[in-house]
Amino acid sequence: MKMYIGGEWIDGDSTMDVLNPYDGSVVDTVPRGTPADVDAALASAVRGAEAMRDLTGFERYQILHRAADLIVENQEDLARTITMEEGKIIAEARIEAERAAEIIYLSAEEAKRLYGEVIPVDGGPGVTGKFGFTVRVPCGVVACISPFNFPLHLVCHKVGPALAAGNAAVLKPASDTPLVALKFTELLLEAGAPPESIQCVTGSGAVIGDVLVSDPRVRKISFTGSRDIGERICHQAGIKKVTMELGSNAPVVILPDADLDKVAAALPTTAYSNAGQVCISAQRVLVSNDIYGDVLDALMPAVEGFTTGNPLDESTKLGPMIRQSDAERVSSWVSEAQDNGATLLTGGGLDGQMHQATLLTDVKPEMKISCDEVFGPAMGITKVDTVDQAIAIANDTNYGLSASIFTQDLDSAMQYIQQVESGNIHINWGTQWRVDLMPYGGLKDSGYGKEGPKYAVEEMTETKMVVIHQ
Ligand code: NAP
Repeated sequence: MKMYIGGEWIDGDSTMDVLNPYDGSVVDTVPRGTPADVDAALASAVRGAEAMRDLTGFERYQILHRAADLIVENQEDLARTITMEEGKIIAEARIEAERAAEIIYLSAEEAKRLYGEVIPVDGGPGVTGKFGFTVRVPCGVVACISPFNFPLHLVCHKVGPALAAGNAAVLKPASDTPLVALKFTELLLEAGAPPESIQCVTGSGAVIGDVLVSDPRVRKISFTGSRDIGERICHQAGIKKVTMELGSNAPVVILPDADLDKVAAALPTTAYSNAGQVCISAQRVLVSNDIYGDVLDALMPAVEGFTTGNPLDESTKLGPMIRQSDAERVSSWVSEAQDNGATLLTGGGLDGQMHQATLLTDVKPEMKISCDEVFGPAMGITKVDTVDQAIAIANDTNYGLSASIFTQDLDSAMQYIQQVESGNIHINWGTQWRVDLMPYGGLKDSGYGKEGPKYAVEEMTETKMVVIHQ
């Protein structure tokens, strides 16, 4: 495919292969963008931002609504593209494409809701004859940098709100998964988005990332990806608005009064879907000693049901990881845990990029499998005696994106809500649950700012304060 810059589909001087993680075949090639391509994209996006600013909220609503309709019409093609370039099983890819449409419908609605506020300035001492209000205006050019693991869903969480708010978007998709982002760009244009309102620049983040994020024409950066790249972007960005959606090692607490049928239904799926490559995958399971054996009995059949295979095959439950090196990293962390006293209950096998659904126990908080972000299909159990101890371990991490607890006791649930350091908290479900209208974002090193179209639009607009002096 070509990349889209300056209102045209263009080739680059060289190309990059997009590989199918299942069998290593070349799915397609895309241009390897350069700093000069970024410069051209930004010059065009400045004009695109003017075009967007001149549209009414209703016109932006119509464009986005049509784009969402087109996503629905093309759901199967988008889903197959996701599976071929990212490796998630086709059932999960179909859900991703369905949710992409939902995000764009939600964004369309937000285009009609850029409210300001009347400010009662006469509440200030001695103020008379003045009228104050705020207006919300677009930021201008928004840089949207997305990771590989939800190559359509997370692109939509950035580009949808950016356009809804009246900005132009410069999209830099992950190099492993640029194809569905390019297809989404095509659908936006078909829906009537002004030609320069969207730019999609493919290429290595290591080569074009710095020039994109440090350029003063970019007024807002929306980044989803790893903690370390996020920190680098914050250093490079200078004075501009930034949203950071970063990694995690999500804790799950299971107390003695937990509903174990619910644990069995929720936990394995929230740990192993997309081969564990989800920022809110359940990773650290803190189980009360009193019910440890019962929890294992409940979990094991479900974990063993995650059969590996071709992700396009409808019967496969677990697909490949994105890269061989990531599968090997997970395998080495499992080995490190075993070497230091953890017990492998099931899984652990590695076949190319395919890592089995893995459950370990006797995991100590200092093992990599616990204290670092696994981002793979491995979950570790640590036994605890009290809810206080569980919360202390849950919080003993730099991350804070999602946390959950299984209990029937309201007091324990409330204690968890108040004390666990996490941007998302689930009571009686796993850590991986999201509906796209909710505010979503992390605490601590998991980032700052919120996604969800309503909240992203807030972050992609500026507030101007106006005072009329009568
Ligand atoms: P990544 O390696 O950080 O890459 C993310 C994006 O940043 C890619 O488009 C990448 O481009 C680009 N990039 C790389 N270097 C850059 C630079 N110097 N300047 C600007 N951009 C640069 O992350 P990933 O491996 O794709 O995704 C996995 C991570 O994302 C995990 O840590 C996961 O937890 C996190 N994540 C968080 C959320 C959330 O909502 N909090 C959601 C999903 C994923 P290239 O691909 O060309 O290198």
